[in-house]
Amino acid sequence: MLIKKENGWHGVTELLKKDIFEFSEGYKDFLNIGKTERTFVSEAIKLAEKEGFVDANTLVKLKAGDKIYYENRGKNLILAIIGTESIVSGINYVVSHIDSPRLDLKQNPLYEEMELAYMRTHYYGGIKKYHWVTLPLAMHGVVVLENGEKVSIEIGEKEDDPVFTIPDLLPHLWGKSQAERKASEVIKGEELQILVGTIPTAIKDKEIKSLVKYAIMKELNQKYGIVEEDFVSAELQLVPAGKAKDVGLDRSIVGAYGQDDRICGYTSMKAIFDLENTPKKTIVCYLADKEETGSNGSTGLQSDYIEFFTSDIISKMKDNYSDLDLRKTLWNSKALSSDVNAAADPIFKSVHEMQNSAQLNYGIVVTKYTGSRGKSGTNDADAEFVAEIRNLLNHKNIKWQTGMLGKVDEGGGGTVAMFLAQKGIKTIDAGPALLSMHAPFELASKFDIYETYRTYLAFYNL
Ligand code: MN
Ligand code: MN
Repeated sequence: MLIKKENGWHGVTELLKKDIFEFSEGYKDFLNIGKTERTFVSEAIKLAEKEGFVDANTLVKLKAGDKIYYENRGKNLILAIIGTESIVSGINYVVSHIDSPRLDLKQNPLYEEMELAYMRTHYYGGIKKYHWVTLPLAMHGVVVLENGEKVSIEIGEKEDDPVFTIPDLLPHLWGKSQAERKASEVIKGEELQILVGTIPTAIKDKEIKSLVKYAIMKELNQKYGIVEEDFVSAELQLVPAGKAKDVGLDRSIVGAYGQDDRICGYTSMKAIFDLENTPKKTIVCYLADKEETGSNGSTGLQSDYIEFFTSDIISKMKDNYSDLDLRKTLWNSKALSSDVNAAADPIFKSVHEMQNSAQLNYGIVVTKYTGSRGKSGTNDADAEFVAEIRNLLNHKNIKWQTGMLGKVDEGGGGTVAMFLAQKGIKTIDAGPALLSMHAPFELASKFDIYETYRTYLAFYNL
């Protein structure tokens, strides 16, 4: 059979189109409430409990059909359904990440200059910094007080909420100081500062040097009970304010912040909820954190969390649990590293090698290897496993394509695939293609979103 590339909308009936569009409504709703890894996890737990999933820590024994979840420090969520086959025969993992590029507040963020109060940020993940100025930004996150009490903050999402923004220089004056800079430095890291207030305090006190800063801190103290030192133990993130939207006259595209990789997070979660029968294999929907900064830390894929919850599952199913059971289970397992790929961009065609690039509307992208410059930092799935996935997709009539992150020498990037493969898990990358990946407003095809969901459903049923 020849490799056939075809736009997925060909052959989509009006009835199916209605389903596809309806599916993306649920997706957009979830993007709006899960804009950070923490809120994604807390909202996902609410849904999971409605779907009959219970906290695995409350169960001593597990049996086929049981639906459980593990929450890791508020930033990872594992949803699992116990299968009918022996666990040691392997687990089917669908692994995505729910962190996205953003701006984090620095530990000591607040200052005042010329009676304007700003907060300093440190960007998280790979961004084009100039994207983030003059945008309405919302603040999400937690502040943990010295006594351990956790204060949640969300400012900028409700209709009448204020927002934050990073002011940029006017074009009339940018000639010497900014226009000559190279693109990666049009806005520098230290220039990513949000404006937070301008009214000085009315309190007359010689001790108070920064009157606007003082007024802002007072406001924060009255609303949230926090003092300046509390920023040190906070995780506050700036993300684009506002909701996911349909894009285009035909509404075929979803435009939203954070689709890398909540597009796979949502579709893999929805698929595990929608599974009708108890699967043969034990299945896991793994929603990970820290992918955008290299999967480090205890909530990233380089941690031992996968061993931790997998061994907990095995020990609750098998008497005389041994370390070998865990090793066998992992080595016999399969995983989809569910992450987005780049959609070929007709305006910047030169970075792509079109024969091997993914396109919007052409279905889920099956990526044998990622990495950059000579496959550095890649998993490179075994041909045998690629064949198995190809067979599954063809058999289920799911539209799929291959993809690459640009031309061989152009750049590149990686996913969590290699960290899964390292444990012995047969792993391949599979997710939709995006335009404007890592921008504040990313674009995904509704058709591709639906095929991604169908892929995960099929993989769980494998
Ligand atoms: Mn990603
Ligand atoms: Mn990414």
